[in-house]
Amino acid sequence: MTHIKGMEDLHTHSRFSVDSDADVFEMIEKAVSLGLKAYAITDHCEVNRWYTEEHYGGVKIYPYFDFKGDYERSVGYISGIKERYKGKIELLCGIELGQAQEEPEIAQIVVDDKRIDFILGSVHQLPQTEDFAFLEYDKMSLCEAERLLERYFTQIDKLCAWGKFDSLAHLTYPLRYYIKNGVEVDLAKFDCIIESALKRLAQNGKALEINGSGIRQGAGMTFPTARYAKMFRDVGGEMITLGSDAHTVGDIGSGIFEAAREAKSAGFDKVVYFKERQPIFIDI
Ligand SMILES: [Zn+2]
Ligand SMILES: [Zn+2]
Repeated sequence: MTHIKGMEDLHTHSRFSVDSDADVFEMIEKAVSLGLKAYAITDHCEVNRWYTEEHYGGVKIYPYFDFKGDYERSVGYISGIKERYKGKIELLCGIELGQAQEEPEIAQIVVDDKRIDFILGSVHQLPQTEDFAFLEYDKMSLCEAERLLERYFTQIDKLCAWGKFDSLAHLTYPLRYYIKNGVEVDLAKFDCIIESALKRLAQNGKALEINGSGIRQGAGMTFPTARYAKMFRDVGGEMITLGSDAHTVGDIGSGIFEAAREAKSAGFDKVVYFKERQPIFIDI
């Protein structure tokens, strides 16, 4: 494989996500022009912030609420235009479901939505703690940074035990911000809990995402790397999805080549995409 033609990008954000302004039609056109076989728009739905701010009685730790509204706008729109691209590209209506393990009853509403093709499961923040994107790393000791990671992987393990998504997004998400802020941690310290999570993922018949965003963002690696994709394979995991985590039109497809390479070096010769929540394989 020398290019991403015929491949997939199953993790992208449009203007229906709080942190993106990307135009949906421009995004799809970009995906078509790259020759992708399968393309998913997966806007954010943080279920721990499903309702508007008033509902949470003055909890100020989170800057943004009403993900119920975002979810309805995104899924309503994308599922409505899917038919137009038939024969051009496999356009998939996805969602990035955040913190489902904290609010399983709300997450179930999304899981039961038949318009959705593909659900990414994510953890972006710990209970009563801000998203890893917004933590103050200069005030954090290495010990504190490691404690946070331990709590993070414990939440990932809980999310995998819940297991009603299709693919686990960016397993090593905190590294995106740790590396940017010069926080150096040895992930191997957390291998036991990571292995537990990956085992649950495999047993539940779910996929692991290799997220290409770290390549363009300066981390110089995918999230996760081949090391954890291989660990997933060793505990019985069979499915890998690839995503750029693009929040702009220009980033669509970015890091997909490198992500596919990591999958290959971990021993996978196929990746998967999900249509109506059912897996379809692509050779890599
Ligand atoms: Zn995410
Ligand atoms: Zn994302």
